[in-house]
Amino acid sequence: MAGSVGGPRVLLRRLREAMAEPESAQKRLDKIVVLIAANMVAEVCSVYLMRPTQELELFATEGLKPSAVHKTRLRVGEGLVGDIAAHARPLNLADAQSHPGFAYRPETGEEVYKSLMGVPILRSGRVVGVLVVQNRTKRNYTEEEVEALQTVAMVLAEVVAAGDLINLQELDEPTLTRRRPYHVQGASFSEGIALGHAVLHEPRVHVTKLIAEDVDLELNRLEQAVYELRGSIDDMLATEDLSHAGEHREVLQAYRMFANDRGWLQRMIEAVRTGLTAEAAVERVQNDTRARLQRAADPYLRERLHDFDDLANRLLRQLTGVKLSSASGNLPNDAIVIARNMGPAELLDYDKERLRGLVLEEGAQNAHVTIVARALGIATVGRAETIIDHIDQGDAIIVDGDMGDVYVRPSQDIIDSYSEKARFRARKQAQYQAIRHEPAITLDGQKIDLFLNAGLQVDLRHLHESGAEGIGLFRTELQFMVASKLPSLKDQIELYSAVLDAAGDKPTVFRTLDIGGDKMLPYMDMAAFKEENPALGWRAIRIGLDRPALLRHQLRALLTAAAGRSLRIMFPMVAEVAEFKRARGFVDKELARLAKFGKQGPAHIEIGTMLEVPSLVWQLDTLLPLVDFVSVGSNDLLQFLFATDRGNPRVANRYDLLSPAVLSFLRFIVLKCRAHGVPVTLCGEMSGKPLEAMALVGVGFRRISMSPAAIGPVKMMARSVKVQDLEAFMEGLYGLPDPTVRDRLHQFAEDHAVAV
Ligand code: PEP
Ligand code: MG
Repeated sequence: MAGSVGGPRVLLRRLREAMAEPESAQKRLDKIVVLIAANMVAEVCSVYLMRPTQELELFATEGLKPSAVHKTRLRVGEGLVGDIAAHARPLNLADAQSHPGFAYRPETGEEVYKSLMGVPILRSGRVVGVLVVQNRTKRNYTEEEVEALQTVAMVLAEVVAAGDLINLQELDEPTLTRRRPYHVQGASFSEGIALGHAVLHEPRVHVTKLIAEDVDLELNRLEQAVYELRGSIDDMLATEDLSHAGEHREVLQAYRMFANDRGWLQRMIEAVRTGLTAEAAVERVQNDTRARLQRAADPYLRERLHDFDDLANRLLRQLTGVKLSSASGNLPNDAIVIARNMGPAELLDYDKERLRGLVLEEGAQNAHVTIVARALGIATVGRAETIIDHIDQGDAIIVDGDMGDVYVRPSQDIIDSYSEKARFRARKQAQYQAIRHEPAITLDGQKIDLFLNAGLQVDLRHLHESGAEGIGLFRTELQFMVASKLPSLKDQIELYSAVLDAAGDKPTVFRTLDIGGDKMLPYMDMAAFKEENPALGWRAIRIGLDRPALLRHQLRALLTAAAGRSLRIMFPMVAEVAEFKRARGFVDKELARLAKFGKQGPAHIEIGTMLEVPSLVWQLDTLLPLVDFVSVGSNDLLQFLFATDRGNPRVANRYDLLSPAVLSFLRFIVLKCRAHGVPVTLCGEMSGKPLEAMALVGVGFRRISMSPAAIGPVKMMARSVKVQDLEAFMEGLYGLPDPTVRDRLHQFAEDHAVAV
């Protein structure tokens, strides 16, 4: 390579030797700059590191005046060094002083040097410093030299991060200052406070060996790993076994595109040729990509960063053999799982006994993974941006699911204050416990029936603990989602019997399989699920009606389990009356089948439907005479009403459910059901929040179904409200032009001392 003595590989070896010597950090850094300068045939080599003030300080130099070390400082964006940091990209200038960005610092004596090549020192895509070489002559540095300097900068970043060079506390870089406490404000997804230890859902691979011993071997390893990665993505796309990966087809297609990108592979190959191991090359290229994309003006490009990150992590895992998910590994007893996002089945893969909390960088309030988290009663915070960059496996962490706060490596006063909060919660819980057996009767004597949403056997213990009237929604698909194969008739009968046994004389509403959308079954032939818009696609009752064997099997299990007892069945995602009739027809067929074989059927049976597709609301006059009850699935109903994907964090919060539009829509449903004398429940997530639940009572709902932890707070609300006042107040809200009436409802609660 032109202008380099022995090439980058020799330099890397020398650096490694220099780093191994037992010396002070400053001395080591001084040696390193001399080595680099000599190897690159440069008169100057300088290292600038970022201070918390966002200033780049000269930490070591060969060639500039030694007295400038620790004196010369440049702000990000100031001078050429600041420019490299600001844009996180190399500069290669034959005549640096003629560059408009050049900032002259007399104390350095740099006026005699004409050419300059500088690269950012990057870690996790963040600039932690700048490495510069300079020459007296107007020299054009080659592409290879820039590459080589970038490789050296990567090794330097590792050295700095390892804490060898300077006091890490001084650096303004999250990955370098990981040991400091870190706080993120996210959104509350599931209430509760959890103190525990971080488990990264997709474990990060730490590249420890940076310098290659045998470059050809590393090239082979890299090419083999990329080949396997491409194969595994193709396989995933072919089998559409997306439930387990928790990813959508689109993302996989983006992966495939990137994985086959020649430029990507080429850059990694070049990085290996400069002397890095295959792993280090993946990380080097990923650092560059991250730096470029983080600064991209186009939000679409910035979003792709996650895809690239995931892909690079997959490749690193391929190279190192680290597992894809932590679920199968050794979990601490107080695990708090950290993920960018995940599907419900992936969360259910974790040992529930050890799971205390969940933190998602993205996520949405009504996404199924959130619902499962709520059902499991684990404190959950979503939209905790940047958390993954600031956390390591095993870090102590506090998740405040009530307020949406996450504290990583909390300081002692935070721990103390949370211990106090935990005591406060315990007192609150004691208050809920005290009214557990009391009915939810309003101040003016209206009874509000509070039911439980459940779906797993572990939920059953909550039925009596919480004081719920019964199970308003049993999501039968959860059993199918946690199983590794399709549950047999016997498995289903066993679960349904256990549920009915646990419920005793409390009513339980079983909802038939609601799969599709984001609820995928890992073992099913997913070829049929190739859909552009799965939420609007072939899901729930649509599958049940098109593949009657599955539905009939389930109905048979339900009827058998309920022999001699009461059974309540409802169908999900019914969009028109004809679908309900056909589904109900299968129940009759299964009843006839039982009779034919002389088997006992349920003593009493009620059949209803979810009301979660807007079209059905406009058929209530035809529907209601045919059903025994209806249950409003506000999660789906409102995602369809507003045309906003409930699982998409970008739009999930765009519209407020406490808006005149929603409230009058729900009011319409309640009045219709009242007129037909058909019981109506609301079982979406909104019923579990005291303020929303208050609004529902005001709208006219007298039955609502929610996650176990919500029963206590909602009952407190119900027992402190006067329906007459509330209804009169809400009469004034339906016609308002406002997008939300949340504040007004809050004000009402405050004025009337309603516990929300
Ligand atoms: C709903 O849509 O509101 C509902 C309760 O069903 P799920 O959340 O399971 O789709
Ligand atoms: Mg639904």
